[in-house]
Amino acid sequence: AKSGKCGAICYCDRAMMKKLERRTQIVRNLKEQLEQQSFEMYYQPIYSVEKSCFAHAESLMRIPHSPIGPIYPDEFIPIAEETGLIVDITYVVLDKVCRFLNLLLEKEIPIESIHVNFSAMQFSQPDLAQRVLEIISRNHTPMSAIKIEFTESTLAESTQAVTEFTLRMLEHGIKMGLDDFGTGYSNIATVINIPFGTVKLDKSLVWVSMENEKSALAVKNLSRTFKELGMKVVAEGVETEEQRKLVVDFGVDQIQGYFYAKPMPEGEMEEFMLRREWP
Ligand code: C2E
Ligand code: CA
Ligand code: CA
Ligand code: CA
Repeated sequence: AKSGKCGAICYCDRAMMKKLERRTQIVRNLKEQLEQQSFEMYYQPIYSVEKSCFAHAESLMRIPHSPIGPIYPDEFIPIAEETGLIVDITYVVLDKVCRFLNLLLEKEIPIESIHVNFSAMQFSQPDLAQRVLEIISRNHTPMSAIKIEFTESTLAESTQAVTEFTLRMLEHGIKMGLDDFGTGYSNIATVINIPFGTVKLDKSLVWVSMENEKSALAVKNLSRTFKELGMKVVAEGVETEEQRKLVVDFGVDQIQGYFYAKPMPEGEMEEFMLRREWP
């Protein structure tokens, strides 16, 4: 029994060592890419129901090539957050998004806004607003073409900071949107008292609504409430025609999901936006 126990511990140690090693490699890679500003940005088009075209897009970070192969956001974003690297990474991302927006606008490719994800830690930086304004103005990008997405959990964690930042951004015409709504953190009273422009229903809400009529009814009414309060509602994670029909029936204003398009590199995104017809 003793040796078996020891064996288990050794195995455990080895697995843990492997995990730690991978983490160390990811941290090293993130630092390198930050230094060289070499992250790749992908863009996922967002369909406007009202305008019948792709008026927006979300920027999503990618590490397609690294010494340990591709690394996905679900793995590297939490590590970037834990190490604090996310703060500077976000500024690099915002700068890249501004440049891409400038390129699209120069070519007269119609796009209203590109969305940038902000992590909770961003909101504990006293110079956040100043840095954001500085990056956008340095690029001469129209302020109204940037939308900052922050999640429900960020809002719950830093209500005061998020509220102040939102008001400050709105003064400058920068848009603000609540992300991941329905993942379980929001106090609805807090949500409705902050004047951000859009609420994005998390994909889990869309998916559960397909399977459960009560959920569908609840989400439909939620979506209606947000709209009555003057916010635009976005549905994400729409993968099928049935899901698309369902969220259109909910009355959502914008749709994001694999049904229309997966996140893609800049060049493909440019081509996508130039197409005249979409599915
Ligand atoms: P998110 O902000 O909720 O972004 C939406 C995620 O859902 C993206 O995953 C997107 O590729 C995926 N998605 C979109 N449509 C569909 C669909 O129809 N079906 C399915 N199954 N998935 C869909 P991705 O790109 O892997 O990013 C994961 C998360 O990583 C993001 O979730 C966001 O929280 C974080 N993230 C990505 N890029 C950045 C970034 O630049 N900064 C920060 N702070 N976080 C980022
Ligand atoms: Ca997002
Ligand atoms: Ca989400
Ligand atoms: Ca998220």
